[in-house]
Parts: sequence; structure tokens; C-alpha cells
Amino acid sequence: MDDNTVIIGEIKRLLGDRPHLAYVRSFGCQLNVSDGEKLKGLLKKMGYGFTEDESAADLIILNTCAVRENAEDRVFGIVGSMKKLKELKPSLIIGIAGCMTAQSHVAEKIKKSYPQVDFVLGTSAINGLPRLLLDCLNGARFSADIAEYDDFSAEVEQVRESSFKASVPIMFGCNNFCTYCIVPYVRGRERSRRPEDIISEVEGLVRDGYKEIMLLGQNVNSYGNDLGGEMSFPQLLRRLNAIEGDFWIRFMSSHPKDASTELIDAIFDCEKVAKHLHLPVQSGSDEILRRMNRRYTAEKYLSIVDDIYSRDPDFSLTTDIIVGFPDETNEDFEATLAIMERVRYDNIYSFIYSKRTGTKAAEMPDGISEEEKGQRMRRLLEVQRGISTEHYKRFIGRRMRVLADDVSKKREGYVTGKSSEFIIVEFEGDSSLIGQFVEVEVTEAMNWAVIGRRIQK
Ligand code: SF4
Repeated sequence: MDDNTVIIGEIKRLLGDRPHLAYVRSFGCQLNVSDGEKLKGLLKKMGYGFTEDESAADLIILNTCAVRENAEDRVFGIVGSMKKLKELKPSLIIGIAGCMTAQSHVAEKIKKSYPQVDFVLGTSAINGLPRLLLDCLNGARFSADIAEYDDFSAEVEQVRESSFKASVPIMFGCNNFCTYCIVPYVRGRERSRRPEDIISEVEGLVRDGYKEIMLLGQNVNSYGNDLGGEMSFPQLLRRLNAIEGDFWIRFMSSHPKDASTELIDAIFDCEKVAKHLHLPVQSGSDEILRRMNRRYTAEKYLSIVDDIYSRDPDFSLTTDIIVGFPDETNEDFEATLAIMERVRYDNIYSFIYSKRTGTKAAEMPDGISEEEKGQRMRRLLEVQRGISTEHYKRFIGRRMRVLADDVSKKREGYVTGKSSEFIIVEFEGDSSLIGQFVEVEVTEAMNWAVIGRRIQK
């Protein structure tokens, strides 16, 4: 019996027979959402049920994100507003988890200025939740656990949000130190999970009927670099592909510097690996890439794209782009537009650069006005709209396999889902199809989705 089993037993005894409800809200990236599912897994073991209504909760956990400074301000605003809830229900327990807590000044600020908060839990300390809760239930005023337990928390069972799509973190942290990013400071260095743990988790998910497995890591394709040659990311993909069952494997986020030929071979060889690659380019300018510390050039990036297109000219690529990095010139920006035109992404996720205290880029001089950044962003989106409108036409007449995931919000009587290529596909149908693979023939292309006709088997 491990320590947590004993503590969880004690918590159950203290909670007694009355049903206790927890409200867990996760902000930010999919890794954080996955951590939120682990927190829920532990709470379920302790006997908690779940609510979406904060005012009905006995326990509130805000699982925070530190990537953007304004997101932090928002969390502090939410915590401030919870003072009222605590006054109305003094037994309410409030905890703050996630990346924000990894910054020591945040834990200090919470302790000093937000007395309604009972505990602070670090990202590597998820398994410390029972201990903190027990302290709170026993009347402790404020507890914090931001220790590094090195991914012990990875093996916590999750309460998953979806019954057919599952996220599986395969590694934690990042070694890259892109100059605009706080992640290596709040999530630590790269640590890969044991291959056998990942394989048995995915086997279990497939047995439970999951249709899409999303492998997660801040720099997912550097998986295994710390395993002494035991297993690389392409080898892991091949091993997971060999699991019997009808399911897809996706992964994110990939760093171009680790997008090896072996990885591209694995994507093309493995029938269960989705035919889509999200490859964040961030900028088309070598000077900006250098100042971002991305460790590739536009030419190197394009050589990866060329390798992919030489195998399949219709392959689906998406990317992330930062507009208005400190002192980005017009020429730098034009280089970004040029790379977009050259690659012809199916979709881009674009962000106006926002300064993040604690990163190197925050210290860089920045002479570009907010107005200029806004103008560049509008132009970028216009260029991408044109590319998507044209590029999506290649799917017309093609059969696509789609995992239906919701009813359409835009068209009555339609269902929406994603194809293996990560394209949104809408087709006539009802909610009984959700969670199933459906064959669709594409009849129309928009700039955000394709419309199709279901092929009845
Ligand atoms: S690869 Fe760069 S952007 Fe991605 S998490 Fe690591 S430091 Fe941040």
C-alpha cells in the first residue's frame, strides 16, 4: 500500500457519506487539460463527484497556464472573485495548480494577497494532491507543494473528458529555450515516460474503444532523447501502430529541428498515424528565427516540407506563426508570407507577439507599434484565407475517413468531425454518429472546412 492509498482512505473517512463535489477548470494547452484529467482521476478515488457550477462545489481547483501574461492576470481576477464564494461557504476548499505555480513569486503572491486560497500544487506534484487536501480538511491554513516528483504523476489514472478521443502525455518539459517561451522555466527539462507505460496505456485505451490517441509533449518528436537509445519517437510510433484495433494516432507539438527522415518514414509507413503534420515555423525570416533561438533556417524547414511533398504532394501541413516579434522588419514579415505561399498550409495558428516576463525576448528592444503588428496580422490572415480557399478544393471528389465528434453548430441536420488530414468535414447525419469513423465523399470546399456526403456501407 503506497502513501497515497493511506491518505486517500483517510480523506474518504473525513468526507463521510455526504456527496462532495469538485469543480476543476483547466486553462491553456492540451498537456494542461490532460493534467486536469489526472487531478480529476485522483479526486474520483477520494470520493469526489464533479460539477460545472462553482457555487455548488466543495472544492475548486484552477489548473492554470503561464504562457501568456494576460492569462495570469485573468486567473488572479477569477481567484479574486472567489472570495465571495468562500464567505458564503467557509468549508469551501480552493486550490491553484498548473504552470503559474511553478513561478515562486506567484505562490508568494497567492499566499500574501489571496487568503481564500487553501493550497498551491505544482505541475510535477500532481500526486501530492491527496496530501494537500488532507492538510486542508484537517484545518491547515495554507499548504503548497511545488516539488519536482519527476513524473510519478504520469501514472495517475485520468477522468477523461471524451469517450473516444484521448490525450496521452509521453514526455514532459522542454530543453529548447525559444526566447519568447516560458515553458522550459515552468515545466523543467525534457523527461520521457517509459515506453512500456505508454504502450500499455494506449493498449488499454484502444480496448476501451478510444478511436483517436493524441500523443502529447511540448517537443514531442524529441521523445526518447533521454532514454539512452532505448526508443526514439519514430520507433514509438511504429510500436503503437502495431497495436491491434481501429484507431488513429496523432501527436503534437513537433519541433522542426527534430523532424527527421525517420519520423517522416514512420508517418508514411504507419497506417494508423494520421496523415497530417503540425510543424510550427513561427517565422520565415532567418534573422527572426535566430533571435527566437529556433535552431533551424527557412531553408532547412523547407527541405523537410519538400521531403514530405515528394512523397505526397497533397499532404496536410499546419503551423504556428508569431507576428510582430521584437523589431521584426517588413522584410522579415514578407519572408513569413513567402514561406506560407510556398508551403500552402491547410491551416495556421497565428499569434501577435506578446511580451512574457521571465523570457529572453522580453528584454529585447521592440520598436514595432501595436498598430503595425495588428496590420501585419490582418494581412497574414487574408493571405491564409486565400490559400485555404484554393487549397481545400483538392479534396473535392475525394473520399475521406472522418471521426465524427459533434453536431454542426452551423448547419442543422449536419455532423462535424475531422479527417485523418485534420480537416474539418461536415456532412448530413445525427448525434448517433458521434465517436464513430464515417466514410464521406467531399462535394464542396470552404476556406475552413469541407462539406461531404456520407457513403453508406
Ligand atoms: S519548443 Fe520552444 S516554444 Fe515549444 S515549449 Fe519548448 S521552448 Fe516553448
